[in-house]
Amino acid sequence: MDSGIPPKPRPSVSSSSQVAGGRLRDVGPHWHTHTTQEVLERLELPSDVARQGLSQAQARARLQQYGPNRLAQARRRSVWVRLAMQFHNILLYIMMVAALVTALLGHWVDTGVLLAAVFINAAIGFIQEGKAEAALDAIRNMLSLQATVVRDGQRQAIAADALVPGDVLVLNAGDKVAADVRLLSVTQLRVEEAALTGESLPVDKQVQPVAADAALGDRTNMAFSGTLVVYGQALGVVVATGNRTQLGHINTMLSNLAVATTPLLRKINGFGHKLAWVILVFAALTFAVGSGLRGIPAAEMFMMVVALVASAIPEGLPAIMTVTLALGVQRMARRKAIVRRLPAVEALGAVTVICSDKTGTLTRNEMTVQRVVTAEGRFQVEGGGYAPVGHIHRDGVPPDWQAASPLAQAVVAGVLCNDARMRQQEDGLWQVEGDPTEGALLVLGSKAAPMLGMDAAQAQRAGAAQDWFEAMQPRLDAIPFESEHRFMATLHGMAGQDAAGACRIYVKGAPERVLEFCDTQAVASGQGSVPLDIDYWRRRATDLAAQGLRVLALASKPGQAAGERLALADVQRGCCLLALVGIVDPPRDEAIAAVRSCHEAGIRVKMITGDHAETARAIGAQLAIGVGKPAITGAEVAVMDDASLRQTVADVDVFARASPEQKLRLVQALQQDGQIVAMTGDGVNDAPALKCADVGVAMGLKGTEAAKEAGDIVLADDNFATIVHAVEEGRTVYDNLRKFILFMLPTNGGEALIVIAAILFQLTLPLTAAQVLWINMVTSSALGLALAFEPAEHGIMARPPRAPDAPLLSRLAVWRIVLISVCMMVAALGLFLWELEQGTSLEAARTMAVNTVVLAEMFYLLNSRHVRDSVLSREGLFGNPYVLLSIAACIPLQWLFTYAPFMQTIFGSAGLDASQWLKVLLAGSLVFVVAELDKLATRRLWPQAMA
Ligand code: ATP
Repeated sequence: MDSGIPPKPRPSVSSSSQVAGGRLRDVGPHWHTHTTQEVLERLELPSDVARQGLSQAQARARLQQYGPNRLAQARRRSVWVRLAMQFHNILLYIMMVAALVTALLGHWVDTGVLLAAVFINAAIGFIQEGKAEAALDAIRNMLSLQATVVRDGQRQAIAADALVPGDVLVLNAGDKVAADVRLLSVTQLRVEEAALTGESLPVDKQVQPVAADAALGDRTNMAFSGTLVVYGQALGVVVATGNRTQLGHINTMLSNLAVATTPLLRKINGFGHKLAWVILVFAALTFAVGSGLRGIPAAEMFMMVVALVASAIPEGLPAIMTVTLALGVQRMARRKAIVRRLPAVEALGAVTVICSDKTGTLTRNEMTVQRVVTAEGRFQVEGGGYAPVGHIHRDGVPPDWQAASPLAQAVVAGVLCNDARMRQQEDGLWQVEGDPTEGALLVLGSKAAPMLGMDAAQAQRAGAAQDWFEAMQPRLDAIPFESEHRFMATLHGMAGQDAAGACRIYVKGAPERVLEFCDTQAVASGQGSVPLDIDYWRRRATDLAAQGLRVLALASKPGQAAGERLALADVQRGCCLLALVGIVDPPRDEAIAAVRSCHEAGIRVKMITGDHAETARAIGAQLAIGVGKPAITGAEVAVMDDASLRQTVADVDVFARASPEQKLRLVQALQQDGQIVAMTGDGVNDAPALKCADVGVAMGLKGTEAAKEAGDIVLADDNFATIVHAVEEGRTVYDNLRKFILFMLPTNGGEALIVIAAILFQLTLPLTAAQVLWINMVTSSALGLALAFEPAEHGIMARPPRAPDAPLLSRLAVWRIVLISVCMMVAALGLFLWELEQGTSLEAARTMAVNTVVLAEMFYLLNSRHVRDSVLSREGLFGNPYVLLSIAACIPLQWLFTYAPFMQTIFGSAGLDASQWLKVLLAGSLVFVVAELDKLATRRLWPQAMA
């Protein structure tokens, strides 16, 4: 089969073999058997491709040739199967059996109406399910994978489906590999390949050829599409994309979104089933009593029972619940919270604690170096943001910029020990590609470069200062930054000098970490270094942190001979401390407001950060998190047992220098304390904590693919305020589900009571089976759907979180359902009997009963917009235009029902005059008045109770 690349004839390569337990069929050339040079030749790429990558033109041509890097869609259920599944529902079975029996009895009209009801129900279900799926699909597309490639000599992030064979792919810890890649260079790369091989332990990668018959898991010089980089960095060349990757061969689509169901929906479906059985048993009993004891003819009794069954079954319930949920998910997506797992929507509404990262979520992640502290003193850096403008001075006095000065060395270290890159957009805005902390150091470098001998105009160009420094000291190797280590180191040669002995190591990282590596400190020009004054540096670091600044230490030492690699042991001793830098990262304004809103909503906010305790506390104070309470560090958490940790998490709100494992422990401790926890995360190691939390919140911008896969929701803007919006939407969805049930059930209850009363008291049936179905199928569903669009209640974020174990319907709600059911019954049955007394025809009296129920529903829909508040509160009747629209849509339908001759034939209805309509209106409004009085009583008697 085709590998995706035009294979050059190579006799040594066999075309296919059986691998890895026979599960995967290996096809295509054996890229893993060749040296990197051979691979590049085969791909017709130049040997310096790792630096230059493809050109945009080449990439376009290849994209045309090989197509987008997408897996064929996993086969969905066909439309027909989906439609057929709509009929697989016990409620519809019952109605179909009823249709059959009515047909046998010769009641053709009833048979027709029953069958129509079944089909309309299936069609509504089908359309609504389709809509819900389309909404979720759209959201799935928002989660498309990104890949970093080198093209035209620049690193850039592109959509993963634009990857082509021959592209140079950059891999970092946390990335999901987006295509099959032959590795060209690796730095401690470890990849977890469970998606392909089932092996959950990460595999160490390297670049040397391996045996031709190596199983997939042993092809250590390859990285396969769909696998996760858990550590290190690498560059590789794409050898297969789309269906030609190994993942494509096993033809599994790694699904992003789980099925469209939630515990609540399952509960409701279960409730529907139970209800169906209860109705069946009840109907059978009624039939037995009616025809057996009372002697009503079986055929007549059967029609009554059919009416009873039809009235009691809430046909529209499951479909509308699904739509309400899907609409909620759409609204969240519009507010930048992308839901990956639907149950999270419910959990969000019940969240009691939000644990949030600091950097980028609570703060802006726009970093600017403001202070540099060397052994000589403290320097101020002017300017904000990423624009390279601003002077560096010491209380107004220009510093000594000789190359050997600690300040100059620190600036160079900050630029060189750095993986970020500055860019200037067309509109002039400056942007960092990579870590903003590193971006801040690049900007410092650009501000200082003119003083260090670079042309001032040149230094203003994006990336120019960085290139200038790098040209003097090209990078040979690096130890990448990992949150656990809290430092990064690079090894540099000296341009133009003989290799031996002319290397330098630069280190930057958290001060306490870098201080461990240092035994000297740089002092004024020409004086070299002196022993480290550790107290001085600790004091300075605490000073900077207490001002809310993020503190990094910069150090350097002579390296070993060029060509050698940089090992951890080389860095951990004998470094010379150059300086501390203090970086501002102000809190987001919207985060301050969002934290306040959480506190009002009874939700506690905890900051869990990798940053320094003092910095965390200072930023926490600006955000009103943990004010007046101590901040606890990861080291302190590490020595606590589970019991004392549980006590601590109840009190403390700021956790600093916390590792991903500690995040997991904190979530567990909070959960044991009965809290419903939302936890944010971005790193590859945050996955366990994200999975464990009730709502795992992954960062969409700076988060790794590993974190996004583990998260229940992904924040498109990494913003804390977005979590709070999602909580608000979660509460709204839950409210709307409840409002819908509270609206729907009394209609069924009222109708069923009318039919039961008629059977019990041997009255003429006020509603026929066909009429009941008309009400349920046409009006109830159309009206009830409007509640799915109901906006959030006023003060929704001023009430405490819902207790997770609280039943869906409180006692108050059950009371409301019973009360309104009885009211509907009294209104419709009362009017019906009264009219019969007055000598009105049976058809007209029944038509009045039907219209009374429908009108009562319309009125009750207005009531149902608020469970406790008056219908006239705040925005009055106009808060949800869909409510008014759906009522308006029902009026012509009822008109048709009453006056259209064909409807009169089908439903046995009859035209009404104005005085009859007036009575219908009065009877229907009874429900409205009673519901409002009930709300008033509730507000007065139980001001705190939640409906
Ligand atoms: P949060 O968990 O709130 O996002 P954070 O981003 O501050 O916090 P980390 O990124 O884990 O957490 O950083 C922890 C510490 O590591 C920082 O306080 C800083 O001292 C150091 N550090 C951060 N970024 C780098 C980097 N690129 N190179 C070297 N050291 C860094």
